[in-house]
Order: sequence, then structure tokens, then C-alpha cells
Amino acid sequence: MERILAFGCHPDDVEFMAAGALILLAERGYEIHIATMTGGELGTPDKPAEEIRRIRLGEAAQAAGLIGARAHYAGGHDLEVDYNHEYRRKATRILREVDPLIVLTCPPMDYLPDHEMTSLLVRNAAYIASVPRYDCGAPPPPTRRFPYLYYWNASHLTDIFGRRLPVHFGIDVGSAMPRKLEMLACHASQRDWLAFHNGMDAYLDTMKDWTRQQGRQIGREYGECFIQHRGGGHPHDNILKTIFGERCVDLETGKDCT
Ligand SMILES: [Zn+2]
Repeated sequence: MERILAFGCHPDDVEFMAAGALILLAERGYEIHIATMTGGELGTPDKPAEEIRRIRLGEAAQAAGLIGARAHYAGGHDLEVDYNHEYRRKATRILREVDPLIVLTCPPMDYLPDHEMTSLLVRNAAYIASVPRYDCGAPPPPTRRFPYLYYWNASHLTDIFGRRLPVHFGIDVGSAMPRKLEMLACHASQRDWLAFHNGMDAYLDTMKDWTRQQGRQIGREYGECFIQHRGGGHPHDNILKTIFGERCVDLETGKDCT
């Protein structure tokens, strides 16, 4: 079966922004892979980096396991994600390991530069993973093709100027919400951290609220909105629209994607 790769910056990014779509894709038989650029080393007020990384990657693996997905760690560190050779290799290794049909990642405009750098690195990796002579310092052979590439919505659903992102379409994820909540609940260490640092004492409610707001955008109860990368090389037809049919609402035409 074809593989789907959701590649976020932190261990819980995917659960917040795209887990609903992944749950629905897993139900349709796709092989799901979830990758994190960093180990979430700084998502704690007091624990040593190795300890919190172990805890957070364990939580990510548990969440992925709920939908039979495989978890990957690219090897990066919090607040160090940079568009450089080391991180390009890390991102490309994941792309080559999975060789996906579809890649989902952070949007180019988001609240944290680590997210934005991850977006750029994954975008670039999705392009260069198929370049035979590019050496990523590890065995996986080049990928066979350019994958479909999509960006999920920004955290808090706005860019740093407070504007909504120009999302192309949304997927109705209503039936996936119970499991999406279960997946996010696996990240127990982050509920305490975000209450401490960001004043987000309602971790699960925040995710529910963002998913509900995106649902409102597409006229459904819950939704996840995406932007398709339409640059050169990558396929431009919307394969998620083909897969999801009437669950997919096109925000450029205002019609169901069918
Ligand atoms: Zn994050």
C-alpha cells in the first residue's frame, strides 16, 4: 500500500494539526508514518534533555501506534532547527526511508521559526530526496518520484501578523475526533509544560477548538485545512480530494471537492 508521511517539528505537532486526516487515511488502508524533526528537548521547565526526549519520543510512538503508524525521529534539537547542510541531510534521510506518495508538513508561515525551518527543510527534502547524487550520509536509496506535498494550518490558525493562512481546502474530520483526542492525550508531558509556559492549561480543548474553527471554515463540525504545494516538480492534482471526495471542501471554489 502507498505510504503517507506527516513530518512535523515537535513530537505533538502532527496530533494537533493533521492527525484527523491521517486517521481517515489509515482507515482507507494507507501506510502512515509520523516524523518529528526534534525530540522536544526543551518542552520542560526542569528535566534534562535526554530524559524529556526519551519521554516525548515514547509519547509520539504511543500516539502513532494507536493508528498503526510508524514513528520516526530525524535527530534534531529544539530551538536549533536551521536551514543548513546537517538538517537538510536529516530531513532527506527520513524522506528516503519512507519514500512516500504524500507528504504533509508545517506551513511556511507559523508562530515559531523552528516550525518554519522544518517546513522549508521538509519541502526541500521532498524535492531533493530523488536526486541520485545527493549524499544524505546514510544508506536509504533515492526516492522514486516527487511526492504530493501539503502544508497543514499554522498553530493558532494565523501567521505572525494575525492573518488567516490562504488554505486551499479542508477535510471533514468529524468521525476521527475521538481518536485524534486519544492520540494527543498520549503527549501527557506537554499538558503540564504548556500550562506552565504558554498558559495553555487546556491542551486537548485547544486542539478541539482549532479543529472546530477549521470545521466552521468548511461548513462542517470539525475540519483540518491544508495548502497544496504547487511548485515545479511536485504533482499539482489534488490527490487528497480524489481520496476524500465529499469529505473534502475546496475553499478556492467553495464547493465540495467532488
Ligand atoms: Zn510545535
